[in-house]
Amino acid sequence: MTYPSAPTDIRQVEQVLPGRPTHDGAGVKLLRVYSYSPDLNLDPFLMLDEFSTDEASDYIGGFPDHPHRGFETVTYMLDGRMLHQDHMGNSGDLGPGDVQWMTAGRGVIHSEMPQQTEGRMHGFQLWINLPSDEKMCPPAYRDIPSPSMPVVDLLDGSGTVKVIAGTYSNGLDPISGPLQGMTTAPLMLDVHMGAHGEFLETIAVGHTAFVYVYEGEAMVGDERISARHLAVLGAGAQVRVNSLETDTRFLVLAAAPIGEPVVQYGPFVMNTRAEIEQAVQDYQAGKF
Ligand code: FE
Repeated sequence: MTYPSAPTDIRQVEQVLPGRPTHDGAGVKLLRVYSYSPDLNLDPFLMLDEFSTDEASDYIGGFPDHPHRGFETVTYMLDGRMLHQDHMGNSGDLGPGDVQWMTAGRGVIHSEMPQQTEGRMHGFQLWINLPSDEKMCPPAYRDIPSPSMPVVDLLDGSGTVKVIAGTYSNGLDPISGPLQGMTTAPLMLDVHMGAHGEFLETIAVGHTAFVYVYEGEAMVGDERISARHLAVLGAGAQVRVNSLETDTRFLVLAAAPIGEPVVQYGPFVMNTRAEIEQAVQDYQAGKF
């Protein structure tokens, strides 16, 4: 027997992933929160990193020239400045609160370099897969300055929601972020809360969803999640987060799964081994 409006409508935590300290680029210290593997597939998400440090030596090397093919990268800065430059002459200067949504498509070679020699650097990089018929599309950028992303009060007045991608239902008064119209229909929210606040949001049934708490502590569904832990959510209609500390901050991410084979070789993510070999050949032949 099924109860359509049973408490199971709240998505519960299926798995908790702790951020693991690692290095990437030219020695940038970061937390790898999630990384695709055949055993851990948050389709269409491929990776989530958080970089957070006050020490210049942890970030000064940046991410010198490197390629991508077959997916999208999202950089969200909280503190510090990062300059992005690619092989086609595109560049973008990301400051606090800004987002860069890059569709690598058939190929981008770019660098992401810190524009400071001291002070705090804090932000995220998220990788989202593309469906097979979009993997070889022309590269595209969406640079989103912070002021163009709506920030709305939570219904209980306990905090704010920054709407980066998709639409926040906000009770019955939906607020859309600047990033719309992608096949995977991603939702990306940054929520800041005081103590004893509640965040409740309806997310499309069947969409992959997770909450990454990066400051404070919260109940996600019925499970206590501490800072720098990602809560993978199971089936249900709504995401519910209750803050336990005065400054609790978390990202809410959701998207439609693609349901295709994933073959990854570092910065190339395709559907078959042959496509990966082609990507390596094209890159080595200077065809990006
Ligand atoms: Fe990159």
